[in-house]
Amino acid sequence: MPMPSRPPEIESPVLLARFPFLPQGEPWMQSLLHDNQVDFETLVNGDWMEEVRARGNLRMLESIKHDEGVNVATRQDIHTEYGQMIEGLGFYYAMFVVCASFDERLMKRWIEGEASRADSLLGSTVDGETFDLVARTYLSDLRQQQTESNATSIHTTSAPIELFEIPMVDFIELSPRITGTYWRLANRPLRDGWVTMDPASGENSRQRLARLLKERIREVLVARCKANMERLDEETAAKLAEPVGRIVSELQSQRSHDVQVTAANEGDWPPCMIAAINDLDSGENVNHAGRRFLGNMSRALGLSREQCCSFFVNAPDYKAETTEYQVNQLYQTEYTPEKCDTLRLHARCPVASGLVDDQLCRREWLTHPLKYVRAQQRRRIRDAPPPEQPAESDSAAPDPPAEPAAEPATQDNA
Ligand code: SF4
Repeated sequence: MPMPSRPPEIESPVLLARFPFLPQGEPWMQSLLHDNQVDFETLVNGDWMEEVRARGNLRMLESIKHDEGVNVATRQDIHTEYGQMIEGLGFYYAMFVVCASFDERLMKRWIEGEASRADSLLGSTVDGETFDLVARTYLSDLRQQQTESNATSIHTTSAPIELFEIPMVDFIELSPRITGTYWRLANRPLRDGWVTMDPASGENSRQRLARLLKERIREVLVARCKANMERLDEETAAKLAEPVGRIVSELQSQRSHDVQVTAANEGDWPPCMIAAINDLDSGENVNHAGRRFLGNMSRALGLSREQCCSFFVNAPDYKAETTEYQVNQLYQTEYTPEKCDTLRLHARCPVASGLVDDQLCRREWLTHPLKYVRAQQRRRIRDAPPPEQPAESDSAAPDPPAEPAAEPATQDNA
């Protein structure tokens, strides 16, 4: 990857708050945590971090819901220290939650949202100096020329037009994932190893280059999130189980028609959930708390309503219409599944009842069934055999396209 080994220095907190994913932003992020005395516990549970978490949640939600990604506008004033903290730590929190989901679909979707936001900001909002600093962070080099505009009227003042050129090696590496004739090297003006990013399809040179930078931003964020997932330990991931559950279920409901798999597979389900399913399946009369928990848990794990309804078909009092109605109510209301304490109280914890022995359930921090799921996912991913290395001759090829429903298109029809 021809990124500069030493990116340009960026000290402006305004710029870092606007682009908190920049590699130069990492020490800044650490100083935000340190100066505001924010540790992980405070970030996740502290009352005064509520606005930070709300901003992080919004970043994730906008990535999922908006095709154009995270909104470029923020209601925070990033020229104030407070606004910078909310923007910086909001991004940091969102990244933590996304990584703790161990869900590649969510990770790719969130990164797409962040990269699209950067594309929009770089293409039209930021000043020339900011654009230059960000571009030089991600490209091995950059040249800029000023050319005369094609003003045809004597009444029109001929304003210079900026035209960017980038090294061919950067173009070759970043363009293959974008479709459209513009992005084929053979169609680009090439001079002494420099590719000209000339205007096209209603976009100026800077917007074309911003589109290419989006690819690099995405690539760098994917590598960073994957490294974070590797490092996240079981207990830390479990502490984020509730926000992870909310966002995974949001992602699932957004795509409920075309996505059948959830990041949590059946082997990750906690004993209390399996016990409720088995009891119902064998015709036992599971109490109201157990049924309600099963519905809430199914929604939080992103199971379809149909799948959730199917758990109840052998219940002694089963009526299809009533079950459908009640499951719909639970899915619409989006309750968080009940905690372990509540399940124990209602005799729905098979570990507390001595029916099942599960070491994970005996951990001190295991206070919620969703924590169990996240810890299991963490173990599964950690213990999975490393992916096979591609053959030597394939190593320069672009990534195969992701499953269509999982990754937003990167099409550019130019
Ligand atoms: S300890 Fe919690 S997660 Fe484990 S079975 Fe009991 S209620 Fe479920």
